[in-house]
Amino acid sequence: MFATLSDRLTATFKNLRGKGRLSEADIDATAREIRVALLEADVALPVVKDFIAAVKERARGAEVSEALNPAQQVIKIVNDELVQILGGETRRLRFAKQPPTVIMLAGLQGAGKTTLAGKLALWLKDQGKQPLLVASDLQRPNAVTQLQVVGERAGVPVWAPEPGNGVGDPVGVARSGVEQAKKQLHDVVIVDTAGRLGVDEEMMRQAADIRDAVSPDETLFVVDAMIGQDAVSTANAFVEGVGFDGVVLTKLDGDARGGAALSVASVTGRPVMFASAGEKLSDFDVFHPERMASRILD
Ligand code: GDP
Repeated sequence: MFATLSDRLTATFKNLRGKGRLSEADIDATAREIRVALLEADVALPVVKDFIAAVKERARGAEVSEALNPAQQVIKIVNDELVQILGGETRRLRFAKQPPTVIMLAGLQGAGKTTLAGKLALWLKDQGKQPLLVASDLQRPNAVTQLQVVGERAGVPVWAPEPGNGVGDPVGVARSGVEQAKKQLHDVVIVDTAGRLGVDEEMMRQAADIRDAVSPDETLFVVDAMIGQDAVSTANAFVEGVGFDGVVLTKLDGDARGGAALSVASVTGRPVMFASAGEKLSDFDVFHPERMASRILD
């Protein structure tokens, strides 16, 4: 992902090499090229507009510097602005003062929530935490079994509906899952919720009901980076319908253009916190805006 964006930006910067000072015309031409590169990468239009305005303003105001030539200055400005649209500083998971920390996953069906639940559980376990996975996705026929498989692979227990603890009642499962975690002294609870193929009122209501039942410390919106501009509209719908604290980008290993996913943080004002780039449990990490910007500009 981001290979084309990366190539196009690098080509743009090459044109500036050897220039002693940037004229207004140089800045305009560069801004135009960056704009095309971002739009071709599928970055959302309002994000592109703000990005270009910021780059132009800063490039015009850039001091003649001994340390950086004009090309390097533009690269630095673009880098800084990329970091900003990705959410600025690395946003780490916040643990509750009083355990268990409740993490709720929300997003469309197929976004990668269940897979992510396992990844997150393993990642937490590797840090010495004792997570409990809670199977509140009762929509998709295999979701509970899938979470159990993932839990087994991660070596993390799964709270799944059994007669008496909320069969067919995702809110009840979530609530009893958190109770169970308290009893068994799990310090983190990860609640997997149901998605639909598209934004759907009932799904939103269910997610909001689960949220109200378990009061998550962190609600993570999981989004497939391959779905293009729908990523932005879906994210906006989830901000309205459920609300969330951070974004998880999945399927960054795909060959889509990915710019839409990069826009989600900027459009919603919620930072990207984690990234998933493969189906294996280990294909997962904290998202660092600075590292991602450097990778794109490498
Ligand atoms: P859910 O419906 O949101 O719970 O989504 P799933 O966790 O079932 O994921 C849907 C599909 O995407 C599954 O086939 C996963 O193996 C796959 N998947 C999840 N995350 C990634 C990822 O980062 N990269 C790739 N290539 N596939 C992924």
